[in-house]
Amino acid sequence: MTTQRGILVAGNWKMNGSVALAEELAAAVAGFTPPDDVEVLLMPPFPYLERVADRLQAIDHCALGAQDVSAHDNGAYTGEVSASMLAELGVRYVLVGHSERRQLHDEDDARVAAKFARAQEAGLTPVLCVGETEAQREAGQTGAVVGRQVGAVIEACGMQALDNAVIAYEPVWAIGTGRTASVAQAAEVHRQIRSLLAGHDATIAGRIRIVYGGSMKPDNAAELLACDEIDGGLIGGASLQADSFLAIAAAA
Ligand code: PEP
Repeated sequence: MTTQRGILVAGNWKMNGSVALAEELAAAVAGFTPPDDVEVLLMPPFPYLERVADRLQAIDHCALGAQDVSAHDNGAYTGEVSASMLAELGVRYVLVGHSERRQLHDEDDARVAAKFARAQEAGLTPVLCVGETEAQREAGQTGAVVGRQVGAVIEACGMQALDNAVIAYEPVWAIGTGRTASVAQAAEVHRQIRSLLAGHDATIAGRIRIVYGGSMKPDNAAELLACDEIDGGLIGGASLQADSFLAIAAAA
């Protein structure tokens, strides 16, 4: 179903693939026509960005994204990739605060907010990932955790910055586990996020896309994406096969 906000279907390949797979997936997406108001986004690993960008040239319905960005400008930060470098390659979106970065690379809210800011300074749209662990959900802390993660960006960057951003609600217990949040669980958290944002600016809160991520697959996508609260999907595992990724985009 489409909403005024439009639907974003994003594939996060994580650290997977090869040149051949990148070519194959990009070609499949380039040759696919999504439903109206559906934007497809490919987020390959850094080394494949340029190749995928070449494949997507002049394809309006599909954008290029990166999975991470440095919290710093250019300089002596060995191994890091700056937002301006990504922008130069034609990247339009970048993930910030993915739970794998928060958990495995010790990224705290301040670092996530700095990455969010660097991305916007270079003209990129940050996709801010938020979500609770299973223990936090069981302790009834989901709203507080997600509120803290979104609030840290508002505090550091200002509410206006959220007017050029996407939020991805990704319960950590659903990522890569095969367990998906129910529509009711996802919708409840999406509503909480939008109402937190509305407390700062109702117009921006009504405009921002809040997508769901966590084991989204062709067989559960239609139900999740039919919910008015859910403005799209961030898809990991299922984005590595053209058939399943495009089936999700077609279901949107
Ligand atoms: C993700 O990595 O953002 C994700 C949602 O992964 P998966 O779809 O594999 O759960």
